[in-house]
Parts: sequence; C-alpha cells; structure tokens
Amino acid sequence: MALIDCSNCGAQISDKSGTCIHCGTPIPPKKVMKPCPECSTMVEENVYECPECG
Ligand SMILES: [Zn+2]
Ligand SMILES: [Zn+2]
Repeated sequence: MALIDCSNCGAQISDKSGTCIHCGTPIPPKKVMKPCPECSTMVEENVYECPECG
C-alpha cells in the first residue's frame, strides 16, 4: 500500500481506496511499471507489447 496525493485537493490517501476520502475525486489505481528488456522504456506490467520497440 502506498499513499498518493489527490490531484484535486492534495490530500494523502491510499492508492487502494479508489476515491479521495476528503473530496470524493476518483483516484485511478497506481499502475505497476516494468522496464522493457529491449529498450528499457517503462511499460505497464500487464502490457506485453512495448509502445517504443514493439
Ligand atoms: Zn481530494
Ligand atoms: Zn521496448
């Protein structure tokens, strides 16, 4: 679990809570990134095709 800043009010909230407990702004879950083995571009873990080198 990690704390992230609400983009609307700046409050620190859990990245798993889904919405800001202060203002109700929806917070997208943090994406897990991994480096591409070919070009080292950071791509989402569930994306198998690198947007940079394919
Ligand atoms: Zn907020
Ligand atoms: Zn790549």
